[in-house]
Amino acid sequence: MSEFTRPKNAEELGNNFKQIKPLMNATMAYYESSRCLFCYDAPCVQACPTAIDIPLFIRQINTGNVKGAAKTIYDSNYFANTCGKVCPTEVLCEGACVYNHQDVKPIEIGRLQSYASTYVLTKDEPLYQPGQGNGKKVAIIGAGPAGISAACDLRLSGYDVDVYEAKSHPSGLVIYGVAPYKITNQEALDEVEYLQKQFNFNIFYNSPISGEAEFKKLEANYQAIFIGIGLGNTSALRIGGEDLLHCAGATEFIERIKIDPFNTHIGDKVVVIGGGNTAMDAASEAARMGAPEVYLAYRRAKDQKGAYEFEYDLAKAVGVKGLFNVSPVQILGKDKVTGIRFIRTKQEGNKLIPIEGSEFDFLCDMVIKATGQSKLKDFLNQIGGIDLNLNGTIKVNDQFQTTNPKYFASGDAVNGGKEVVNAVAEAKIAAKGIHEFLSAQA
Ligand code: SF4
Repeated sequence: MSEFTRPKNAEELGNNFKQIKPLMNATMAYYESSRCLFCYDAPCVQACPTAIDIPLFIRQINTGNVKGAAKTIYDSNYFANTCGKVCPTEVLCEGACVYNHQDVKPIEIGRLQSYASTYVLTKDEPLYQPGQGNGKKVAIIGAGPAGISAACDLRLSGYDVDVYEAKSHPSGLVIYGVAPYKITNQEALDEVEYLQKQFNFNIFYNSPISGEAEFKKLEANYQAIFIGIGLGNTSALRIGGEDLLHCAGATEFIERIKIDPFNTHIGDKVVVIGGGNTAMDAASEAARMGAPEVYLAYRRAKDQKGAYEFEYDLAKAVGVKGLFNVSPVQILGKDKVTGIRFIRTKQEGNKLIPIEGSEFDFLCDMVIKATGQSKLKDFLNQIGGIDLNLNGTIKVNDQFQTTNPKYFASGDAVNGGKEVVNAVAEAKIAAKGIHEFLSAQA
């Protein structure tokens, strides 16, 4: 049984979704930074996709140069506070910290990163200014971590940058898809505002680009175009009953909770289908929203799930239970969900085999599908000359240039759905690629 009651107001919601990486105060940051061994060839840096100079920024915090620490971090990663909070540090920098070999708690790198970045964010201390204008313009489609990171680097190189965002807010999945116990919407918005003030790029909200004519217009007005559109809605399971009331996609469910928590339907007995990190988030959130019973249902064995172990632990800690080796065959109900019919599965070599005659009905009143997000194939097909990989992601070269040389792309639409930090890292390479491409044309 979940320990949470249904939140009726903002205070109760805040209590149910307490931050799992709360902000350190100055004493805590000083103490934690004192423990760092400032390793040569530090494994924590090697494990960071954006290669932040972690020992340097920790030393800067320790010597009282917090603004310098923030600059060290932002130089490598424009989503410094966001990544400090939402990165799976347990398997990246903190997972690589040498203290793990001594059975000592690793340095809390993520929280130190958020401490330094929050220092400049709250003081509104600028760290950058745009480079001298070079008269060239770049359009960016999508104001998520990839698009905003590319915008910052392109402004540093002197390009005029316009960002077109289909939704009403920036930050992509950080706003719409990351669990609120990792980062609040306000924190995510503050970081984009902080960057926009310094780099002075335009963001046009509620401005989806669609149709060949709009792409042609962009191509006529901009020297290069960067695509940072992420992924689409939750993929269909292609089984009966998916259109029943109270059967939802995980990303749509998480988005609804972030935007309108008090009007989001939460069942009494919720089944989340999937074994990845999004499934863990959706299950944890359903429990924190007061669903008395929440189950994760995964078609393979527990040790084959795609989610990080610490994400599974977070879900278990709020009372979520696991059903493994079960595959859904039908969502049951007349007009709304009343249960799921599963079939048991077993592994034979690489193959997952349904066990004949093992079907059973599991009663529940809500189903959340966390079975991956669809690729935006139709959107991409509107742009001439952009090849896609077999899995629907955008084909790019080492500089994240697509097969249509005017278009660059990175983030989930290219990597198929990774972490915020990967989108940021790839966007920096793409921005450099755009700069080299346009410089060669001068
Ligand atoms: Fe500090 Fe750990 Fe990185 Fe070494 S590995 S520099 S101790 S954070």
